[in-house]
Amino acid sequence: MAEKDELAVGVDLGGTSLYAAVVNTGTGQLLGEAKCKTKPKRGAVGVTERIVTTIASAMSEAGVKRDDVIGVGIGVPGPIDARAGIVIRLTNMGSTWDGFPLAQTLAKLSGLSVSIDNDVNVGAVGEHRFGAGRGASDMVALFVGTGLGGGVILGNKLRTGFRGSAGEVGHMVVMAEGESCGCGEQGHAEAYASRTAIERSIRRAIHAGEQSSLAEIVQEDKSVRLTAKYIQRAYMEGDDVTVRAVQSAQYYLGLLIADCVNLLDPEAIVVGGGVLERMGDAYLEPVRGVARQHFLNKHAMESVRIVAAELGDASGAIGAAVQASQRLQRAAF
Ligand SMILES: [Zn+2]
Repeated sequence: MAEKDELAVGVDLGGTSLYAAVVNTGTGQLLGEAKCKTKPKRGAVGVTERIVTTIASAMSEAGVKRDDVIGVGIGVPGPIDARAGIVIRLTNMGSTWDGFPLAQTLAKLSGLSVSIDNDVNVGAVGEHRFGAGRGASDMVALFVGTGLGGGVILGNKLRTGFRGSAGEVGHMVVMAEGESCGCGEQGHAEAYASRTAIERSIRRAIHAGEQSSLAEIVQEDKSVRLTAKYIQRAYMEGDDVTVRAVQSAQYYLGLLIADCVNLLDPEAIVVGGGVLERMGDAYLEPVRGVARQHFLNKHAMESVRIVAAELGDASGAIGAAVQASQRLQRAAF
């Protein structure tokens, strides 16, 4: 059994499901896990109660008691105030989260100390400590899914910025007055390089009358989402519409990575999220080519590693546990 101060619970709160794991923050090993549906309709307090139950299941699977863990770290899908332990807003989960004191409420219900973070930032911490970014002092993580999130590690430390919103790479402008972004503005990277962007291109081509193996799904039921699974299948079949949509997303992801490298010159860019998990490292080959073309410093450019994430769905919970162990230990001194 690891030392008491090495164990922490990491929680990844998503709009659909929530996941908790007991993590050895010295080794990254998962000692117990539990998952359940979030049921966001129950509101902030109702969901927090579900988080408590999920944490209890993970701890029971790991065979640990409250005194065995330093506390809980939780990653939430939106902006937070880490110092105050408050959620600022969770757009997809309803207004009961606006200004919700999550750290305090969860601490009261669970009897554990709690630290909160943004989910993408803790994903970056997880990949940096135990995943594809291991050993890099400076690293940028990009997560490509429904949205496009990012996290910045400099000098082995997560950088959250002056107002806690550093790393919002998905909302960097890649096309002036371009496509609409999920945030309401136009021309952001998320509107060109996310799964949602690929889906939009495919739907647009099909509605314009182009042949595609996805046409049946798209026309039959408007509510069906073109998940990474559908996109990958059509891509592998060589479906022209899908191949073009994917190539366009890869191109803009390459530009975005070049922007990050020109700004920070990190040792590693780690790319994760649903699309990467489905399509694998092959997805990154054309991305690397575009990125390197736009690096200003072309010296030893292969040494800037552009690599696929390694921890999959667990990166957020692992990173949240790491953050909790650092923050809560410090608080104890
Ligand atoms: Zn945006």
